Amino acid sequence: MRIVVKIGSNVLTRPDGRLSIAHIAALVEEVAALYEAGHRVMVVTSGAVAAGCARISLPPVIDRVIRRQVLSAVGQPSLMDTYRTCFSTTGLPMGQILVTKSDFADRDHSENIRQCITALLDHGVIPVINENDAVSVESLMFTDNDELSGQVARLFNVDLVVILSSVDGLYTGDPADPASELIREVRPGEDRSGGVVRSTSSKGRGGMTTKLSVTSALAREGIACAVANGNRPGVLKAVVFGDPPDFPCTRFLPAERRG
Ligand code: GLU
Repeated sequence: MRIVVKIGSNVLTRPDGRLSIAHIAALVEEVAALYEAGHRVMVVTSGAVAAGCARISLPPVIDRVIRRQVLSAVGQPSLMDTYRTCFSTTGLPMGQILVTKSDFADRDHSENIRQCITALLDHGVIPVINENDAVSVESLMFTDNDELSGQVARLFNVDLVVILSSVDGLYTGDPADPASELIREVRPGEDRSGGVVRSTSSKGRGGMTTKLSVTSALAREGIACAVANGNRPGVLKAVVFGDPPDFPCTRFLPAERRG
């Protein structure tokens, strides 16, 4: 299978805001296990801004856009350095791809991205993709990396998108409310937006609202998706191989593909 694994900022960082090497190492090992099992895996990672926050402090009055540019420029190398170290222990090489939303709007640019990622995969390199936040124009930015994952998934017509977050999946209400229940399965075309709480995660840009809109759209186009908790050990094995079958997550069943 061709699989996109999206890793959110809250999964990659510790409560003090620094990158969690232990979490990244565990997820990289799981990605390597999927690769060894014959899957072609593309990683979409957040965490550049969060990593930047842990490295420098900026005055609170600084312009929002400049803040994001500076933090991501400082944080992206740290993020990649951590990935590179973790991948090297698995023996798998990784390659960094930074993209902007406008790259996907232009046929030549998106074809260039497709060619590069295909070549990486053909040569046994795991692509690790992020938005180029340092140079992304505010009005032309992805809502978040969930949206970027959707674009990558479409470009490669992948079989599965796994969005790793800090909650188990989509709930019938606020995940913090004990009365809310985890929704295990969403059928294509089924509207489960009623219970979604419109808050974003503490470190990332998106939230469950974009996750739901991206996964629902992909599922309608025939691409299976899952939202799962990236902090649970064995999460990728559980989602991809269905082992254990009762692993808590939300699966978005794909509509039949046309053509
Ligand atoms: N590209 C942003 C980063 O690396 C994250 C965007 C998001 O939160 O999805 O910090």
